[in-house]
Amino acid sequence: MLANLKLAVKRQRKLILIFFLTIFIPSISLSVFGIRAIRNERYHLAKQIENEHRRAAQDLKSQISSQLEELGSLLEDLAQTDALVQQDMSGVKDLLDDEIARNSLVEQVFIAINGQEPFFPLFQRVSYVLRTSSGLGPEASLQESLKRAHYYEFKEKNYKSAISVYKGLIDRSKNINFNANMLANVARCLMKAGDYREAIQIYKRIAGDFPESFFSTGLPLALISRLQMASGYRNLGESQEALNTYLDLYRDILLMQWPLKEAQFKTYASLVEESIRDGFEEKQPEVQVEEYKKEYEQLKILHRDKLDEWEVVEDIKKKIIPELRSMQNPEANRSSPIRYHENLNSRDFLLWAVLIPGHSGDRPAGFLGVKISEQYLIEEVMPASIEKLPSNHSLDVVISRLSGEILLGEKKPSAEQATTTAFFEDNFPPWRIEIFLSGEETYGTLDLKRNFYFWTIITLVLVLISGAVLISRTIAQEMAVLKLKADFVSSVSHEFKSPLTSIKSLAERLRDGKVKDADRMNQYFSVITQDADRLTRLVKNILDFSKIEEGKKEFEFVEADIGKLVTQTIEDFQTEEIAKGLRIQTRISEDIPHCEVDKDALTQALNNLLDNALKFSPERKEIEVTVRRDETSVIIEVKDRGIGIPQNEQDRIFEKFYQGRNAVRQSSKGTGLGLTLVKHTVEAHKGRIEVESQVGEGSSFSIILPIRKRRK
Ligand code: ADP
Repeated sequence: MLANLKLAVKRQRKLILIFFLTIFIPSISLSVFGIRAIRNERYHLAKQIENEHRRAAQDLKSQISSQLEELGSLLEDLAQTDALVQQDMSGVKDLLDDEIARNSLVEQVFIAINGQEPFFPLFQRVSYVLRTSSGLGPEASLQESLKRAHYYEFKEKNYKSAISVYKGLIDRSKNINFNANMLANVARCLMKAGDYREAIQIYKRIAGDFPESFFSTGLPLALISRLQMASGYRNLGESQEALNTYLDLYRDILLMQWPLKEAQFKTYASLVEESIRDGFEEKQPEVQVEEYKKEYEQLKILHRDKLDEWEVVEDIKKKIIPELRSMQNPEANRSSPIRYHENLNSRDFLLWAVLIPGHSGDRPAGFLGVKISEQYLIEEVMPASIEKLPSNHSLDVVISRLSGEILLGEKKPSAEQATTTAFFEDNFPPWRIEIFLSGEETYGTLDLKRNFYFWTIITLVLVLISGAVLISRTIAQEMAVLKLKADFVSSVSHEFKSPLTSIKSLAERLRDGKVKDADRMNQYFSVITQDADRLTRLVKNILDFSKIEEGKKEFEFVEADIGKLVTQTIEDFQTEEIAKGLRIQTRISEDIPHCEVDKDALTQALNNLLDNALKFSPERKEIEVTVRRDETSVIIEVKDRGIGIPQNEQDRIFEKFYQGRNAVRQSSKGTGLGLTLVKHTVEAHKGRIEVESQVGEGSSFSIILPIRKRRK
């Protein structure tokens, strides 16, 4: 096997060499180049994308930072303005209205002057913060009358007298706030007396004429007056008017019309809100409630927002400003802006604060600060900046807090890695920018590049494989041929050996005169003749085969009596094989026509069939030969009761050199050429050969020749 392989490889050396030089080496090297090219391509693309993304992150950072810087320098300028340095708060308010109020980045502004309550100009009115409690107490001369009026009103419930004393007080005082308070007292008495209409009139006057007046408790008179007006309308049964008044009041409270303290705001806002709800529940048929309800719902949203804002303001007041103060450098009068961030009550505070210089210029007077609207940054500034990013490859931006909470963009599967991660300077804002390759774009580009090389490689591999298959098939064929040759030589020599040995020994005996008996001598001669005939047949078979292989085999067709030919062949065969206990039964129909055949070839074919039948019948050497005809053909059938042929071999037995497995075990004789020649001969006669066989029962071969006169 190995020797055959070596020999086969040696014979096909040239082919293998050509394969290696023209296919294998070029394919392998091209494939290696292709793979390296793909890797290079990917690497360059990745680098390119990474650079692009890094630039994009830088862009985003600088766009946000520049907006924040701008705000910072605006604040610095503002802190230097006279209004702030002089702490002229109404001037400050105007200034802020111009510069800051419309800046969407700013959510809240605070001014924290050292030693004073911080205030929030966008949230509260300046005047309230600066308001002092002075100017409320009545002059001493009026004290007496005021007490009397109170006595009438609260003790005696003599409202008429109380009203006239209150009115008298108004005439005697020049203090506007006091007068407004007295007017409110008059209205209150009127309410108590049940004169709602009159009371409402007076309250209307107070709300209109004294918008800035306060009770001694610090409550705005106008607010209370409007509340009273509404309840007056309610008492009069004028539900619509009452509802209108309440809604207007609700809106004004929410829009911070009056500078209320947190507790005051909360109390009055919910008081009015409840009254409106009560109004709806009273279900006055003449009131078109739906219209009002819509407005009421909107105001309720505003209400919620304001409560939120109060919380922010309180946090700034109570926690952030003290912290900023502790961070403040007492030496510096004007230092660079402070960037500050803190998370309080799960709310993020992003602040800019600048120092307000002191009067004398030595120590800072306090802070001016803004809370930056994170929402605006995330919902407006960022998306707009992302949109403007110049990039050849589409990208996904994800912005998250340092804690991981995603603020913008879609959460990526954890397996996906950002090409670029960037942070803001000083972590302000305290966010992380991550840039990812957006899915389709990447693969689209990479695939496109890959296709070219990829398919080249695939083609090369296919070429390589088919080349290898071809080579191995050639070698396998070569090996098969080598094996056939070896087998053939060994079977042929074997075939030759026994008749030659027998001829030699018999001839020697005859020569040495050891055989005297005439009968015995005759027997020796006939055995020698038989063996010689056998050898002749064998040689004839081999010669015929080689002629067929070379395409030189010629047939000579003559008209012949098939029956006679068969009978003659069997007779000759039987005389040859008589010693072997052979029985041949012959049945030849009467009506066999003459056919044009090559007598020699047909005789040889028949001999081959008989030879096989005998060879493969180890026990019952019974052969049956039948010659019959049908419409179109003459059939010569040779049937034995031998070992039979397995189904899977029946197709192959006609191949050259093929020898059956059982057959080889059974008889060491044979060359595998017999049936090949039979088939060739029969086909040259335009006929065909058929086999029927059962293992262990026997075989039957039929030569079927067409009845048709043929010319050569
Ligand atoms: P050989 O007889 O020299 O082996 P053949 O071409 O005549 O070669 O036959 C090929 C094979 O067909 C045989 O090896 C045997 O396996 C099978 N064969 C042919 N004739 C018979 C038969 N009469 N009975 C069983 N096997 C047969």
